[in-house]
Amino acid sequence: MQVHKIRADVLRKKGGPLEIESIEMEGPREDEVLVRIVASGICHTDIDFCDDWDEADTPVVLGHEGAGVVERVGRSVKCVKRGDHVVLSYQSCGHCGQCRSGRPAHCRHLYEANFGFKRLDGSNALQRSGVRGHFFGQSSFATHALATERNLVAVSKDLSPELLAPLGCGLQTGAGTVMNSLKVSAGESIAIFGTGAVGMAAVMAARIAGANPIIGVDIKPRRLQLALKLGATHVIDNRRQDVAARIAEITGRGIDYVVETTANPEMHQLAIDVLNPHGTVALLTGESGMDLPEGRRTLGIIEGDAVPQKFIPKLIELYQAGQFPFDRLVKFYDFSEINRAIADAKRGDTIKPVLRISEVHPSCRF
Ligand SMILES: [Zn+2]
Ligand SMILES: [Zn+2]
Repeated sequence: MQVHKIRADVLRKKGGPLEIESIEMEGPREDEVLVRIVASGICHTDIDFCDDWDEADTPVVLGHEGAGVVERVGRSVKCVKRGDHVVLSYQSCGHCGQCRSGRPAHCRHLYEANFGFKRLDGSNALQRSGVRGHFFGQSSFATHALATERNLVAVSKDLSPELLAPLGCGLQTGAGTVMNSLKVSAGESIAIFGTGAVGMAAVMAARIAGANPIIGVDIKPRRLQLALKLGATHVIDNRRQDVAARIAEITGRGIDYVVETTANPEMHQLAIDVLNPHGTVALLTGESGMDLPEGRRTLGIIEGDAVPQKFIPKLIELYQAGQFPFDRLVKFYDFSEINRAIADAKRGDTIKPVLRISEVHPSCRF
């Protein structure tokens, strides 16, 4: 087994800061791919994890929206070769009934595969340095990450991995919720609670689906302005306006769908209250779904029910056709600026921070 010296942002303190350290990584194993990370998006799950982390635990490397260039492949890997560009997404086991029937977002081992900080066989490639990795099967806040065929997507070299990085989780989740989970049709009404990266992806996907009206709800006027540009037909500032009254006024009879991204219990209840009798709330906040009176329902949704190898190329095509302009959500930061990027995202000033970790063609620089 080869050992590589890499640099990674290590979490050693609850709430951060994250510090770049030199550590050692073993791999790739037979079924793994060693990826040089060009860029990584920062998702709210990284930030929540950092804030909730228990200091008594082994230090970890977070990051789960990596994109980069394949450096080495294990013997059994077929789908990529050295030099290919890849986007990394969530991990699944590949063996359980759900995985075998093409529903990796419902993998029976989803929790261990993404939040176990080890391979599914219990090993850890960062063991030598006393640090745990494999977050979402990647740990992309690092110069290099290991991935498998199940969580990597080969992508065209026409677009920079830097731009494509955030497709792996947040944008896939928002767009997939509208397109795959809810299957919103033309003329149906939808409200999106929270216009962060996930919510904005849902707004853009709702426009592609032909939904009408598309109502964005947030407390940040600047985000609401952007939501209008990306496809919202109406926006509601819920610090200044009564959301239920405005939705009733706009739709006349309650709404078909609410995508709830805020994780605020009051917003959760409000999402149920504004539905029409056959409406559905999509909860993207880790809660599971339930049936409600009158045929209303809530669905707990993971990763937008997306199969990354199918859905990410579709989002790239939509981007190239000008229909999914997610680049408008992105702000780039240097690898060393991760703590500033997290602070900007927490304040809501940056919708989708992306860390620049290495050049696509490192020979140009070194
Ligand atoms: Zn599985
Ligand atoms: Zn995420």
